[in-house]
Amino acid sequence: MHIDNEIRRIVQEMLETMYAHRGLGLAAPQVAIPYQLFVMNPTGDANQREQERVLINPVLDGHKGTIEAEEGCLSFPDLFQKVRRSKHVHVQAYDPLGKLIDENASDLVARILQHETDHLHGILFIDKFGPIARLASRDDLAHFERDFRKAQEHGDLGSDKVLMRDLQLLETKQQPRRPPPA
Ligand SMILES: [Zn+2]
Repeated sequence: MHIDNEIRRIVQEMLETMYAHRGLGLAAPQVAIPYQLFVMNPTGDANQREQERVLINPVLDGHKGTIEAEEGCLSFPDLFQKVRRSKHVHVQAYDPLGKLIDENASDLVARILQHETDHLHGILFIDKFGPIARLASRDDLAHFERDFRKAQEHGDLGSDKVLMRDLQLLETKQQPRRPPPA
């Protein structure tokens, strides 16, 4: 991917959207941007910008251990369920300056990395639900699936107009309470 001013502008808008909704992460496809990138901040706190990360073309490997914890997603407001993830992962990616990121991560940071990388491959956290979480959420899931299908029918992914519309859609959604979604 050519990293240019447009990408940096999109990244800033994504970060603002993430903080506005008290999320811990936001992936480009969630706001109809067809790029392999996501933003994250494990504190979810706009005053702790030093914890902020932007990962472009991320590749995860070295998955080790498993841990189950409650998880949410800005694309599914107010839906929280336990999801099983790897406890440790290794990530390689590029930052917006084109610098290589090569790190090992654990626990919450590893969870966010897995959740957001999944978004880039069209995998949603609801796809990771076990049978109990799926049963407990079936009404919510039916509702979200209808919305998701409608959104898919709009087409034109990636134009500024679509981005702004999707950001506005996100703006109008209710603030999730806790824990912060990703
Ligand atoms: Zn998500």
